[in-house]
Amino acid sequence: MSSRNDVISGEAVKELLDWLGQFGSDSEGGISRLLYSKEWVDAQQSLKKLFEDGGLNTQFDEVGNLFGRLEGTAYPDETILTGSHVDSVTNGGLYDGQYGIIAGFLALRYLKEKYGAPLRNLEVVSMAEEEGSRFPYSFWGSKNIAGQAKTEDIQGIKDFEGTSFDDAMHQAGFDYRKSPEQIREDLKSFVEVHVEQGNVLEKENIPVGIVRHIVGQRRYTITVNGEANHAGTTPMGYRADAMNAASRMTCAINDMAVAEGDPLVATVGSMFLEPNTVNVVPGKATFTIDIRHTEKDALTNFTADVEAKLQEIAEQIGVEVDIDLWMDADPVPMDQQIVKVMQEQCDKNDVHYKLMHSGAGHDSQVIAPIIPTAMLFVPSHQGISHNPKEYTSPEHLAEGVKALIGTLYELGYAE
Ligand SMILES: [Zn+2]
Repeated sequence: MSSRNDVISGEAVKELLDWLGQFGSDSEGGISRLLYSKEWVDAQQSLKKLFEDGGLNTQFDEVGNLFGRLEGTAYPDETILTGSHVDSVTNGGLYDGQYGIIAGFLALRYLKEKYGAPLRNLEVVSMAEEEGSRFPYSFWGSKNIAGQAKTEDIQGIKDFEGTSFDDAMHQAGFDYRKSPEQIREDLKSFVEVHVEQGNVLEKENIPVGIVRHIVGQRRYTITVNGEANHAGTTPMGYRADAMNAASRMTCAINDMAVAEGDPLVATVGSMFLEPNTVNVVPGKATFTIDIRHTEKDALTNFTADVEAKLQEIAEQIGVEVDIDLWMDADPVPMDQQIVKVMQEQCDKNDVHYKLMHSGAGHDSQVIAPIIPTAMLFVPSHQGISHNPKEYTSPEHLAEGVKALIGTLYELGYAE
């Protein structure tokens, strides 16, 4: 295939992102498009029209995932799916989620115009929800596609204004799936394009990332119980200072993570003290730990070492530590076959790429256990995301679409 840069211009991608971004544009210069809100409904209905104007057959599933389809001629029972999520965080940016939808649409339109009908169906999906920003539930869109959404987990949950999930969904014109565990049999692979939301590609000046793994994550809440005492009358030797222990624990976690090295990351992102006042030795410290790695064994071993270290420090300082592991998600490998296809077609089409992992969660991790799945990244300026300052240059937007076009061509048009 010849160069496609002339056909997919970065400005054309940006123009469509701006267009879609108007649905939910907020007063602080960002996008707030929460699941089943009016802005969300407007976006999905407008995308439906865009897809139809682009020659795609459209369909909503029961919960509001929107599909735009280019029919295949030879294998009507085989569908290659691409796309991402249409919802945003509150006051989010122009690229997270919606770039994957626009990229998918532009890729399908380009392939149709250039090569006609594919052998397999090509579909772009605008998934209902990923962020968990309105209701305490994430990946509603992809979980429904993957047959993983459980109605009983949803019923009874409310948004911050007290509106129930049921009511919001019904008002938007959608409903639970009748057979929530059923998976479409025609789905053969999924390819998601997304902004990196990190700074690796930009730092290395590479326009496209081919994702090999999505990291596994473990999250903890650690409670250190010491003894609150007078800051003036309690000699240093008679203290059970929870903050002293917690800060040593924090330093140890950081040192251990640095010693372990990439791709492991460990973060203490939140800490509370009690009574949290200037003249009292802290009696209680509560903090969180977030640990991520691409390999399950490495994640398991590292977290076991951390847990042992926390106990050791607690004993040294003379405090009690309670370790609560409340999130434990395994790493998700991407499909090596599709990764190979991506590499080959990037080489062929002069797309400069880097093999990398995703440190953030994505719809692809929900779909990957069900069908062969892979992801493409484009750079995020300064790694900023979930923020109106999110930015990817038009040239990089175009390179991402180009890499997607090549991948979908190989998956949809090749025997
Ligand atoms: Zn996203």
